[in-house]
Amino acid sequence: MGNEVSPNQNKISLDIGYQICYTKRAVKCRKSSILPLKRNFYTFKFKTMIVSILGAHVHTKGGPHTGISNGEALGCQAIQIFTTNPNRWPRKELADNDVDIFIRCWQDSNIEVILAHDSHLTNLASTRTDVLKNSLRTFYGTIQRAARLQIPYVVTHLGAHLDAGEEAGLELLSENLNKLLNKTAETNVIILLETTAGQGTNLGYRFEHIKQVMDAIELKHRIGVCFDTCHVFAAGYDIRTAKSYQVTFNKFDKIIGLENLKAFHLNDAKSRLGSRVDRHEHIGKGKIGLEAFRLLINDKRFQHIPMIIETPQSEEMHPMNLKVLRGLVGR
Ligand SMILES: [Zn+2]
Ligand SMILES: [Zn+2]
Repeated sequence: MGNEVSPNQNKISLDIGYQICYTKRAVKCRKSSILPLKRNFYTFKFKTMIVSILGAHVHTKGGPHTGISNGEALGCQAIQIFTTNPNRWPRKELADNDVDIFIRCWQDSNIEVILAHDSHLTNLASTRTDVLKNSLRTFYGTIQRAARLQIPYVVTHLGAHLDAGEEAGLELLSENLNKLLNKTAETNVIILLETTAGQGTNLGYRFEHIKQVMDAIELKHRIGVCFDTCHVFAAGYDIRTAKSYQVTFNKFDKIIGLENLKAFHLNDAKSRLGSRVDRHEHIGKGKIGLEAFRLLINDKRFQHIPMIIETPQSEEMHPMNLKVLRGLVGR
């Protein structure tokens, strides 16, 4: 979880043969011998003692703070939200009151980590001046909103080069990211580059793309990576068996470095391995299958990394998908 800013930042890692990360609140509960029942993984498999920071992308209709109650209702330890409508160029900013309520709700909750996802419209690799101008403005706004809400991470896709070529696209993206990071140097918000499926002219479907952008970033402490299982699989990296899972993560480690991995998006895939088509499916119901998720959720290297589902029909199906993932703990 590192040095990032969050109201629930004060964590204690207890190394007693296994590692458990308690929030300040949970420790307080424990001392007064009230079991922290809201954290599902504390009722976990005996002896396996696996604690994941599991959560979901939740909606925030009614204001950003509603994301927290939505996450709590699902028993999440982490949530991801949009800080503004992702399908429209934003026009108005958050009121101070919205920010205060959000922070208060977060402090009173068992949510440990919150991630913001950037707008769907931004393309920092765009060769179209109008799109680029709006993208820079919108992304700047997203970083500022995240900072005000004390959200440590903003997840973003790498954008699309629109036939300018991958090399030109990656260079333009790096240049614009540097501009934005320098312009928001007073914040600690970390940009997480998300692995993509590589649909159309989208960048980021090769680990090398991510590495290239990371190398070009001047403020290294402000950049990290979000690994999306559906996207990586559609991009051609297999994770379906213990062996292929190992090969893929070894590649990731060699090219990007596991220390840069700050978040997961857990989604099964409707599309085939290497199809470069981005279609999310319910956990265990797609072409990836349960084994990859079992491996991930029990991988000790990733137990302090938030894992967020972005599966379809969120309102009806999030409880089911989270239940499936929780059922894999210790198996
Ligand atoms: Zn994703
Ligand atoms: Zn996707």
